[in-house]
Amino acid sequence: PHPWTRAMEQRVQIQDEPLELAWPGEDEPIRMLLGCAPIQDARGHLRGCLVTFSDVSALHRINNQLLETLRDLEASKEEIRRQNEDLHRLATRDPMTGCLNRRAFFDGADPLFEKIRDRQGELCCIMSDIDHFKSFNDRYGHTVGDMVIKSVAKCLASELREVDLLCRYGGEEFAILLIGSDIARAAEAAERIRARVESSTVPGDGDISVSFTVSIGVAQLQPADTTDLGFFDRADAALYAAKGGGRNRVMRG
Ligand code: GH3
Ligand code: MG
Ligand code: MG
Repeated sequence: PHPWTRAMEQRVQIQDEPLELAWPGEDEPIRMLLGCAPIQDARGHLRGCLVTFSDVSALHRINNQLLETLRDLEASKEEIRRQNEDLHRLATRDPMTGCLNRRAFFDGADPLFEKIRDRQGELCCIMSDIDHFKSFNDRYGHTVGDMVIKSVAKCLASELREVDLLCRYGGEEFAILLIGSDIARAAEAAERIRARVESSTVPGDGDISVSFTVSIGVAQLQPADTTDLGFFDRADAALYAAKGGGRNRVMRG
């Protein structure tokens, strides 16, 4: 029933009842808000109904424009957020492996050093370097060389927990900071990485698959490490001891 019929039948006032009226020649309907008030005489007999129509078409249009503007704003906010994310990734990650670059690695490491020193917690560094990598490039070309680097990065990432930091430290060198691990656990992780790399292959020319190995040095942050560099140096020295000891092995520093 029409609102005024309802108002009269039920003897109730109706306010702000929306109503759309199609208008010849207009694309948009006219949008009204209706008010209905039944009128009764002194004895309570119904005499009619007072109906008011307010044209709110203009308000409606402005409202819609506002909503559209808000949606555009949301969309550009989302776009900016996405671009910021891209920028952040570009600034902090190595594009080839997705590992942290050196700057982001040290940025992430600094607060860890503070925390570990203050609470005497445990922090270990794993440094790894691919063995005889130059010969892979020479023998199979840089494309295969790059695949080897990516494959090693995956092996390293497999031992990573959420809090740990993995960095492409140099061309075919990677560093991991293991948070909350002592040297024994870090060396076990390093050994798992070493074994995983050893059993990995990438496709070379034709049917051959290329195997490769890494040498790994492990060191634990000591209270006596006054500079972070001492800590990394010990991991590095252990890595070169692993190279000197015949490669494809883990050494503790
Ligand atoms: P080892 O470490 O066992 O002593 O021998 P190595 O042959 O790996 O020695 P070195 O670390 O000096 O060689 C690293 C080589 O890695 C040198 C460079 O040509 C190559 N390299 C560095 N970055 C990249 C890269 O992004 N892609 C490829 N394909 N090669 C790279
Ligand atoms: Mg190297
Ligand atoms: Mg190497």
